[in-house]
Amino acid sequence: MPSLYRPIYLDCHATTPVDPRVLDAMVPYFTEHFGNPASVTHAYGWEAEAAVKKAREILATAISCGPEEIVFTSGATEANNLAIKGVAEAYISKGRHIITVSTEHSAVLDPCRYLESLGFEVTYLPVQPDGLIDLAELERSFRPDTILVSVMAANNEIGVLQPLTEIGALCRQHQVLFHTDAAQAIAKIPLDVAAMRIDLMSLTAHKVYGPKGIGALYVRRRNPRVQVAPQLHGGGHERGMRSGTLYTPQIVGFAKAVELALAEQATETQRLMQLRDRLWQQLSTVGNIYLNGHPTQRLPGNLNVSVAGVDGQALLLGLQPVVAVSSGSACTSAEIKPSHVLTALGRSPELAYASLRFGIGRFNTEAEIDQVAEQAIATIQSLRGVAVSSPA
Ligand SMILES: *Cc1c(COP(=O)(O)O)cnc(C)c1O
Repeated sequence: MPSLYRPIYLDCHATTPVDPRVLDAMVPYFTEHFGNPASVTHAYGWEAEAAVKKAREILATAISCGPEEIVFTSGATEANNLAIKGVAEAYISKGRHIITVSTEHSAVLDPCRYLESLGFEVTYLPVQPDGLIDLAELERSFRPDTILVSVMAANNEIGVLQPLTEIGALCRQHQVLFHTDAAQAIAKIPLDVAAMRIDLMSLTAHKVYGPKGIGALYVRRRNPRVQVAPQLHGGGHERGMRSGTLYTPQIVGFAKAVELALAEQATETQRLMQLRDRLWQQLSTVGNIYLNGHPTQRLPGNLNVSVAGVDGQALLLGLQPVVAVSSGSACTSAEIKPSHVLTALGRSPELAYASLRFGIGRFNTEAEIDQVAEQAIATIQSLRGVAVSSPA
């Protein structure tokens, strides 16, 4: 039973707890092996450098790149900024046009808007009602001065998986660099930068049971060699692309988290899909409830629904004692604005407000799902009852 103070956590797209096995791997690097990986004159530096090297290899294997193509950052926000602003600056003589999608995370949209203020032009592709982009529309958007396409791997609100292989092929055909924000996708769905022809990929640890404050940008080194102008200047770490002393414990934890998630990916995907489908089957019995995003081409642990005939805020309040979920995007929930992702699908503002994002994860059980479904159904029915019986 959840206590009033510890509701069931179903917000795994916002963040996840650190897996105890990840924490165990990190601990020695805070105290015993505390050296600076850039210190080349003594054993403290060497052992930290060895740990970073091993982590780089694990992450590189996870996405099929070379270890020297991994640039550590503070997370996916920084990786997206480095990719988009870094490419814009490095390729400005080739062109000033960028293509992205209206449903991207603000860590992609905001750097694009910033570049517009500097004179770049950005095409924001719409999405179809299922949340996927139209490849023909992407194809029509290429211009001779297009330098970058940025399309996320998995959406943080509705979980939909964009067709990376097809997008990569189109970008290669038009000789335009392809960046993908894979913050929600890493170690949850297969990612292969070689097969998918991805040139830059943003990663983060804290959505996959690793620590917060660490991520990476994959930057392709050959065919083609991608140039990225640094956004942080200093000691020239990470091949000059990102200066700053490497955060060894976080890097070790990041790699451990990805390694564990990959080892358990096949079984965990099945388990999460079963829980997700179980939740949806129960919720759909209340009627007039709609699934947001493609029914199958989505992250296994994601369920995003809109409930007709209820007030979004009241719905969330009714659920809060039992379950921790998001309504709209967590990153914009401070503002009272309908989710830009749900409105891009064509949802009315009312249905966008009255939406719930369930992010089911590693530590959730079937009993928890049943309890959440029960509470949600009771809340929806009571809100609808109030609405029906109240005088007009
Ligand atoms: C969480 C998230 C980010 C931001 O990642 P941080 O590591 O928290 O900076 C960027 N993009 C997507 C799709 C995300 O889900």
